[in-house]
Amino acid sequence: MIEIKYPDVLLDSLENGHMILDDKFIVSYWNRWLAINTQISKDEIIGKRLDEFYPDINYKVLYRKIITALTIGTPTFYDANSNAKFIAINRNKVTTSSLKLMQQQVTISPYITSENKVMVSIYDISELFEAKLMIKKEVEKVHKLNNKLEAEKEIIDKNIMIMKTSADGTIIDISTFFCQFFEFDKKDFLGKNVSIFKLADESDAIYKELWKTIQDKKSWNGELKYKTSDGKEKWVQSRVMPILDSNGELFEFSAVYHDITNEKLLAELYITDPLTKLYNRAHFDETISFIVEHQRKADVNFALAIVDIDHFKSINDTYGHQVGDEALVSVAKTLKNSLREDDLIARWGGEEFVIMLKNVTLDEAKVIMEKVRANVQNNKITDSISVSASFGLTKYIIGEGAKEIFKRVDDALYEAKRGGRNRVVVK
Ligand code: GH3
Ligand code: MG
Ligand code: MG
Repeated sequence: MIEIKYPDVLLDSLENGHMILDDKFIVSYWNRWLAINTQISKDEIIGKRLDEFYPDINYKVLYRKIITALTIGTPTFYDANSNAKFIAINRNKVTTSSLKLMQQQVTISPYITSENKVMVSIYDISELFEAKLMIKKEVEKVHKLNNKLEAEKEIIDKNIMIMKTSADGTIIDISTFFCQFFEFDKKDFLGKNVSIFKLADESDAIYKELWKTIQDKKSWNGELKYKTSDGKEKWVQSRVMPILDSNGELFEFSAVYHDITNEKLLAELYITDPLTKLYNRAHFDETISFIVEHQRKADVNFALAIVDIDHFKSINDTYGHQVGDEALVSVAKTLKNSLREDDLIARWGGEEFVIMLKNVTLDEAKVIMEKVRANVQNNKITDSISVSASFGLTKYIIGEGAKEIFKRVDDALYEAKRGGRNRVVVK
C-alpha cells in the first residue's frame, strides 16, 4: 500500500479544510483553512479527539467511513446525499440566500494506513447549494405561473369565443365555448377555412372589407352573421387581429367573438313591419329626418314616392281581410323586387307605402316608378285577383324640411287618385 504524506505547507495553502484523524478520532493535523474558519487553532486541537470539539458529528458513521477508506484504499464520501454540515462553520459572506452555515462536501481518504490515519477534506459547496436552491425556486415559480396560465386558459376556453387561423384563414385553434355556441365538434372546425361560417345569402362586401383590413395588418371590428351547424343564423360582434412574425409579416389571425343575436333581432323587430317585413314607418321617418337634418351631399339627392293601393277596401270587402293581408304582402314583394338594393321601402300605413330612390333625377325616378306601377298592376295576388296602385312622386329640394316634401308628394298622390288612379303623378 502506498502511503502519501503531503507536506504541511502544501495543505496549509489550500482553500479547503484538511485534517488528519485516526480511527480514535485523534486529530494529528489541522490546516490553516480550518484554523481560520473554525477559529480553533492547530495548537488547541492537535493531539485531542475531534469529538471534544464537535460532539454532534455522527461518529458511528465516521468510524465506518474511516475503516472503509483504510481497507479499500480509496477516498469515500462522508455523506454523498445530504449536504451535511460536517462541522458547523458560519458563513461570513453576505448572500441573497438565508444560508447561515457553510454547506460542505466531505471526503475521507486513506493517509497513513499503518497508523490507521485518514485525511478528512472539507470542501465548501455553499455556492453550488445556493445555485441549486435558486434554480429550485425559479422552477417552482415557473410551475406556479404555468398553473395559473393553464387555469386562465381554461376560463377563456370555456367562456369566450375565440378562434385562431393561419394567414390563409385555415382554422388552427378554436375555443370550446365557440364550438358549443355554433353546435360544432372541435374536430369539424380544425383545418377548415373560416368561410364555413359564411351564410350563402350574405353579401361579400363585408368579408372583402374584413380581409383587406387584416391584410393591411390592422385589426377589424364589426358585426358578422354566422351560422350554426344546423343553419341557425347567429350575429356575432367580432374583433379580428393580425399576429405578425418577428419579421413583421402576417403569421396568424386571432379573433374574438361576442354573441349579439338577441340585440340584432330586437333591433330588427324595432324597424320592421310585421306583416310585410318591409321597414316600418318609424324607421323611414328616422332616416328622412337624419338626412334632412345633416344635409350630407351623399344623402340629399333622392326622390320620394308614396304608393296607395286603389280601392283596397273593396278587396277586403269582397274577399275578406285575410286575402287583403295577402295582397299587402304580395304588393310589398313586388315593390321590393322592382327596386334596387339601395332604395329604401317602408310600409307607411294600412295600404300605403313610401319609397326613397337614391341618387336619381326626377326623370329617372319617373321611369322607375312607371315600371313599378306596371309591375303592381300585372302582379297576381291569386289567380283571379290583382290590384293597381296610385303613385305620388317628387324630388327632394336641398334645404327643405320633411314636412315640405311630404306635402308635395301627398298632393301628387291625391292628384293621381283624382285623375283616375293607377298612375304616377310627379310634383
Ligand atoms: P283608394 O283607391 O281611394 O285608396 O281606395 P281605398 O279603398 O284603398 O281607400 P281607403 O283608404 O278608404 O281604404 C283603405 C283600406 O285598407 C281600409 C282598411 O280596411 C284597409 N286596410 C288597412 N290596413 C290593412 C291591413 O293591415 N290589412 C288589411 N286586410 N286591410 C287593411
Ligand atoms: Mg289609403
Ligand atoms: Mg287606397
